Amino acid sequence: MENVKVSNSKIWLSSPHMGGTELKYVNEAFNTNWIAPLGPNVNGFEKDLQQYLDIKHTAVLSSGTAAIHLALILLNVGYGDEVICQSFTFSATANPIVYQGATPVFVDSEPDTWNMCPIQLRLAIEDRLLKGKKPKAIIPVHLYGMPANMKEIIQVAEEFSIPIIEDAAEALGSKYDDKACGTFGKFGILSFNGNKIITTSGGGALISDDGESIEKARFLSTQARDSAPHYQHSVIGYNYRMSNIAAGIGRGQMEVLNDHVDRRRGVYSYYQKALSHLPGVKFLSEPSGSFSNRWLTCILVDPQKTGGITREHIRLQLESENIESRPLWKPMHLQPVFADAPYYGESLAETLFQNGLCLPSGSNLSSQDLDRVSQSIVLLFQ
Ligand SMILES: *Cc1c(COP(=O)(O)O)cnc(C)c1O
Repeated sequence: MENVKVSNSKIWLSSPHMGGTELKYVNEAFNTNWIAPLGPNVNGFEKDLQQYLDIKHTAVLSSGTAAIHLALILLNVGYGDEVICQSFTFSATANPIVYQGATPVFVDSEPDTWNMCPIQLRLAIEDRLLKGKKPKAIIPVHLYGMPANMKEIIQVAEEFSIPIIEDAAEALGSKYDDKACGTFGKFGILSFNGNKIITTSGGGALISDDGESIEKARFLSTQARDSAPHYQHSVIGYNYRMSNIAAGIGRGQMEVLNDHVDRRRGVYSYYQKALSHLPGVKFLSEPSGSFSNRWLTCILVDPQKTGGITREHIRLQLESENIESRPLWKPMHLQPVFADAPYYGESLAETLFQNGLCLPSGSNLSSQDLDRVSQSIVLLFQ
């Protein structure tokens, strides 16, 4: 029975989706023996990103985490410093703060975007100043592709003259006031990990309009070699550059990026039509001026209104049908590893974690796949 087999095949949360031309660039790298963390694909991928984002400078790197780390180094974040960070995010946003011996100061989210709350941000800065320390940077995140409230975040940041590092790892293709996410701060970072909207199998980018800083990022990411015939080093370097093979995949993926955004937005619309009539199930809509790439479609499940059905009931139901879904990010201030870090906010991020579920959202999902997911959830409510 072919049908049965088809209907039980695994549906992933967000899996790699190749467009077809990636191999052309990878083959070029092989044919010309540019199998190194430099070469024409690295330069080409950087140009493609600059053009797409309308930004002057980019350094492609081994990961988004590496990009955040370099941004912190370029802002002179060091031992004993404090950096403000959105609590509702993936740990990779916060970990590099600790790599530098600094302390993350976590801030709650706001209900309209699920991203950094500008009011709590201000409270956090004022309180840290009272305690005698000025935060060295602010890291807002465009989670699930939804742009953060940049206008108000920038206002606060400028008032206190604190630079912004924008974590746009999940938001390539998203826009805020018609400008690409990642291009608002002193630095922006992107990720091309396997589950992101485009992938190089693993990789990231640091972007900025400040050419000198990006040049320095390239230097630091290739072991910080001074110009000398021998190997000479005046500062500590890192091995963070992207390989020419990975960049080749990236160049091919850039050709299908807009198509991936359209498809992911289509996935959101599909679920919204199929599920928003269910009592107690809510979706996050775009505030005016925001354009989300809808990297992942998330639902909030209020057990008070669903008759007791929780997001965990839905997750287990989907799992039993070989469908992957995942709770929203567990806030950093609730993670054991960050138990001692200061936190400013109430319980929004925590509530999102408790009630939220990410549904399969890959750009490669078929309408049959989406129907299978939706039907499975609708059945639970009957
Ligand atoms: C994926 C991700 C990162 C890290 O990117 P890597 O390329 O996996 O190192 C950082 N922040 C957020 C919000 C992410 O989702």
